[in-house]
Amino acid sequence: MGGILQARIEDMPGMSFECECGRTHSVDISRLVIGSNILDGIVAGLDAFRDGKLLVLSDNNTYKAFGEAVINRLLADGFRLKSFVFDTGDHMLLPDERSIGRALLEVEPDTTFVLVVGSGVLSDIARIVSYRTGKQFAIVATAPSMDGYTSVGSSLIVGNKKTTYYSHYPHAIFADTSVMRNAPIVMIRAGFGDVIGKLTALADWNLARIICNEYYCDTIAKLVQKGVDRCMESADGLAERDEYSVRCLIDALILTGLSIGLAGVSRPASGTEHQLAHYWEVKAVEEGREHPLHGNSVGAATVVTAMLYELASEILPEGIVYPKADFVRSLLEKIGAFTNPADLGISRELFVESMMNAMYMRDKYTVLRYCSQKGRLEEFTRTIAAKLYG
Ligand SMILES: [Zn+2]
Ligand SMILES: [Zn+2]
Repeated sequence: MGGILQARIEDMPGMSFECECGRTHSVDISRLVIGSNILDGIVAGLDAFRDGKLLVLSDNNTYKAFGEAVINRLLADGFRLKSFVFDTGDHMLLPDERSIGRALLEVEPDTTFVLVVGSGVLSDIARIVSYRTGKQFAIVATAPSMDGYTSVGSSLIVGNKKTTYYSHYPHAIFADTSVMRNAPIVMIRAGFGDVIGKLTALADWNLARIICNEYYCDTIAKLVQKGVDRCMESADGLAERDEYSVRCLIDALILTGLSIGLAGVSRPASGTEHQLAHYWEVKAVEEGREHPLHGNSVGAATVVTAMLYELASEILPEGIVYPKADFVRSLLEKIGAFTNPADLGISRELFVESMMNAMYMRDKYTVLRYCSQKGRLEEFTRTIAAKLYG
């Protein structure tokens, strides 16, 4: 049972166990291949789909980074495939109706499988397109930028609104550390911010357990904590793109992603820091502003959440472990990531508004609602805003 805490991440696919929390947990992904120079592993992982025809999606950056190499290798191995490369020039590819429609047009009557070479946006597009056309899909990850590779949801922008659509798990995830270490540094920073956010997410989960008697699984919380600890311990090497450090980051992202599937709720991976980041992201989309990558805002929001926990320390129930704000800040500074929402383009007004309202965005009990119920949220927000905005 406790086996999953000792297991190598590559051995987790297909695992199923009865847990002390009373539930049966299972990992519903068939294959995870993580390592350096894994083209052989990609070919082996796709062998079951050899008889069909693959649609391979990438964009001009990910095609250059790894897509071309993957396609050439698959063709040399006798796979039939069609490649489509999104070319958005200097603009960011958005997971909107336009991109989804474009990808959909590339699905042909004889397409049997969708393979995407890319990170968050591309995998969200491939996930929804494959799901809606009834095909399996797999991800060749190109950047350690977020924990959503293992998600069942597609985070899309539809009608200028950021919305999550239910879709499906990838059949397989391939993560080549020799490629991912060369991802743009902003994406590595973002991934690290998303990982650091688990420190406050776990504190919130524990708080919800104590205050609301909410479902909680100690094994899953430990699993996430273990991945985060390893990632933090090796964080010094991230700025230099050290391959071992990048591997620890990838492992932590995949582990937390898997933990959502294990728990059946997003608790192990998201709390106050995600409510705040989500609030800022939604506002940016509504106002047509460009917003830094998800993990960048999660990182800064984790500093804010830790500040809130510190202020609330004397009114918190016993047994809540939360990170110190200085500690979170120093971790993010190691790789030059944002630590202050002001640096993300969040105005003081929007910051205060988000502190007061983010708890309503997703129905999730966090320290925001706890402080609000204690009648202290406004006062704590004022104190934090004064520290962050002067
Ligand atoms: Zn459990
Ligand atoms: Zn996240």
